[in-house]
Amino acid sequence: MKSGIYRTTNPLSKTLSLPRNPSSSAKSAIQTLTYIPSRVNVPWLQMVACARIVCAWVYCCTNGFLKGVIRIMKAVRLHGLRDLRTHDEPVPQPMPGEVQIQVKSVGVCASDGHWYRDGRIGSTVLSAPLILGHEASGVIIAVGEDVSHERVGERIAIEPAKPCMKCEFCLAGHYNVCPNIPFFGTPPTDGCFCEYVCWPAHLALKAPDCMSFDEIAMLEPMAVGVYAIDLALAKPTDTVLVMGAGAIGLSVIQAAKVLGAAQIIVSEPIKERRELALKLGATDAVNPGDSDAVAAVQALTNKRGVDIAFECTGAEQSTVDASRMVKVLGKVMVIGIPDEDFYHFDASSSRRKELTVVFVRRSNLTTERSMELVAEKKIDIASYATHRYPLEQVGEAMEMMISKRDGVVRAVIAVSD
Ligand SMILES: [Zn+2]
Ligand SMILES: [Zn+2]
Repeated sequence: MKSGIYRTTNPLSKTLSLPRNPSSSAKSAIQTLTYIPSRVNVPWLQMVACARIVCAWVYCCTNGFLKGVIRIMKAVRLHGLRDLRTHDEPVPQPMPGEVQIQVKSVGVCASDGHWYRDGRIGSTVLSAPLILGHEASGVIIAVGEDVSHERVGERIAIEPAKPCMKCEFCLAGHYNVCPNIPFFGTPPTDGCFCEYVCWPAHLALKAPDCMSFDEIAMLEPMAVGVYAIDLALAKPTDTVLVMGAGAIGLSVIQAAKVLGAAQIIVSEPIKERRELALKLGATDAVNPGDSDAVAAVQALTNKRGVDIAFECTGAEQSTVDASRMVKVLGKVMVIGIPDEDFYHFDASSSRRKELTVVFVRRSNLTTERSMELVAEKKIDIASYATHRYPLEQVGEAMEMMISKRDGVVRAVIAVSD
């Protein structure tokens, strides 16, 4: 650069208007992009230089445009471990087939906590700043091409997964295990800790008027509970053990109650959560921190063990205990995400009892059924939202969820009222 000059005017400046006060970054962009080496007489190099000038002006105009014309929203991005930053970003515009959603409430899921604390879930690693959050409610404020304008104003729940609809698993109806499935708040797809999102219209589900926005956001974990009971092929005569009474565990308990399960035992170390589980449908509660929780569950089932255990914590000991607590030929449904990328089972009891272990991946077409159960007052998901934070305090909400302080079930981010 030392041998060159900076050209700060060019023929295009007469026809293009600059922002009145270009920011310092815009100024440096002009200087960087309009740099032309001296003594250049090669035509193609001059063309390159002109292209750089055009780029610089486009950048300047865009920069001014962003501040003046394009609507700006607040978005909270995770940049690294426990490093959340609030940014001003352009409001996304709906593509054909999409709706533009003003985000209302977003639950902080345990999986968000994994990204925030560990920067990864198993083999998937955070590689670029990401907006987290996938348990969201909102209002449709605009629609893209091919979407009815009548949808504007609808209060909606968001299905956070966008399956490809083409692979063999989608074609067989197993949308949740599609290998090509963008999911809100999972790299590289930005999530909902921001003021506006765009998403396919068919994945924005109209919610009943009786539901609050916090409740609508809690449909996402509830759908996981309903799906887990479906996948377990649970029967009303079954004895069920639910390990962990966070939002997912409570959702399994309520889905089991709707099914009419004979006995629903909850295993949960936090007193407030045990009490809520009993209120929402559990028939018995044990504390896994007590000296012998396995013996306690055996005693509650006349030493038979439970038909199905739902592991909803991800704790290493929990799957080991589950394999000891289920009956001969029993079933362990694994939902919780472990800190390390391994699950642990008691080999001898799993083998001798010929257990079935089923892993549960999110949910599959169970959000609308969950809505109906709320509308019929058969389940209560409003009580999951124990703590509320504004968008600027996503970090505090994450810390609350990770620490499990204060009897928290779900911290909910109130993005807009
Ligand atoms: Zn979730
Ligand atoms: Zn697919």
